[in-house]
Amino acid sequence: MLERLKQLREDAKRELEPVSDPAALEQWRVSYLGKRGRLTLTLRGVGKLPPQERPAVGRLANEIKTHLERAFKERAEELRRALLAKELAEASIDVRLPGRQQSLGYLHITTQTLREIYAIFADMGFQVLRSGEVEDDLTNFQLLNMPPGHPARDMWSTFYTTRPGVLLRSHTSPGQIHAMRKHYPRPIRVILPGKCYRYEQITTRSEQMFFQVEGLAVGRNITMADLKGVLVSFVRQMFGSERRLRFRPSYFPFTEPSAEVDIDCILCGGEGCQLCKHTGWLEILGSGMVHPTVLQNGGYDPEEFSGFAFGMGVERICMLKHGITDIRYFYSNDLRFLQQFG
Ligand SMILES: [Zn+2]
Repeated sequence: MLERLKQLREDAKRELEPVSDPAALEQWRVSYLGKRGRLTLTLRGVGKLPPQERPAVGRLANEIKTHLERAFKERAEELRRALLAKELAEASIDVRLPGRQQSLGYLHITTQTLREIYAIFADMGFQVLRSGEVEDDLTNFQLLNMPPGHPARDMWSTFYTTRPGVLLRSHTSPGQIHAMRKHYPRPIRVILPGKCYRYEQITTRSEQMFFQVEGLAVGRNITMADLKGVLVSFVRQMFGSERRLRFRPSYFPFTEPSAEVDIDCILCGGEGCQLCKHTGWLEILGSGMVHPTVLQNGGYDPEEFSGFAFGMGVERICMLKHGITDIRYFYSNDLRFLQQFG
């Protein structure tokens, strides 16, 4: 029995020598120290030995057990270190803290909408022209056919500065005058984007500051058909190629004739729903043929030249396109709203 134990110790030692990975080591452990391992089985057999042999065999068996367990632990530790050394050698470990995440900025939804509008009109040959947000009464009203006391001025109540006659423009239309005076006598095809101001109650549909895009074309033989063609093209690129347009007679002091332009409801397609107030139509902009007096104020002879103009609220376009229900979201700086368009 003692000989068998000694043999077992030699076998275990020899077999442990080439073990070089955790799986093989575990296998070695099971085959000697496991429930059915050689040493375990041998220890169980001690009880069957004659009493005088038991102490010596038992002592040796326990010695071997301790020895094998220690050998197992040592080899396991060796393997762990070897593995770590290998990993360190193969891959470089970056011990630095990750940096703070840079949050990328993005354009405000109004700017995104403006750029979409620019792109569509640029394709049709319109240049972008800018004019100031601070205007005088002359350009904001009088040259647009609204002399002092004209009742239509009530529709464009605005903010006045302390300098008499200087105001924040109530629409982008004064840009028409600037464009004509700049380009006369050449033909004109421009859009005029920018901020406008109104002194009126803030509601879900109206803000005191908002964006408009004005359009102006002046030349020889320009007709209402040109206006319709340009607007149909714009609307179909902006709201979908199936859109239908409706021109509704209207009144603006600076165009004659004037028309409000509606599109068939983008939500219900004309069936009638809450968005279109069950009319099937959505108003998107005002337009018309440039009034002869305005042409003249811009320097163009209305006998020789004609033109069309239109003006749209950028937030309105954006609200329809994205299903936004309240214009006040745009400039209240609520990130929960703004981040939806990042
Ligand atoms: Zn509808």
